[in-house]
Amino acid sequence: MNQDQRGQFSLRLIQKCPVCARDYNGGRIEILSETDQSFLAYMSCGFCSSSIIVRVLTLPHGLVGNAILTDLHGLEVLNFSDVEPVLSNQVLEMHQLVSQDAAFIDKMRNL
Ligand SMILES: [Zn+2]
Repeated sequence: MNQDQRGQFSLRLIQKCPVCARDYNGGRIEILSETDQSFLAYMSCGFCSSSIIVRVLTLPHGLVGNAILTDLHGLEVLNFSDVEPVLSNQVLEMHQLVSQDAAFIDKMRNL
């Protein structure tokens, strides 16, 4: 089984949309990135339009994959993968800013 066949096989394991439980037959599958041992795919349901991101790794003992629901578009997934990760202290700092100023969200919308 070559690399392409492994990728097709592993995507077939995710046959049903986790939101509406319908087959992905009418949906869209897009390979966002690919290396020799892994690929990142974006799958959209043709019925409910929900999307998942799927990462599949080829390891010596077999295939390992995980999938998460997302409201991002495929291009946004790639764009966010290039930015620095958010640190826990940044999250705490943002929480303090929001909790100290009830109008903080409105101010951010007006920027
Ligand atoms: Zn669906």
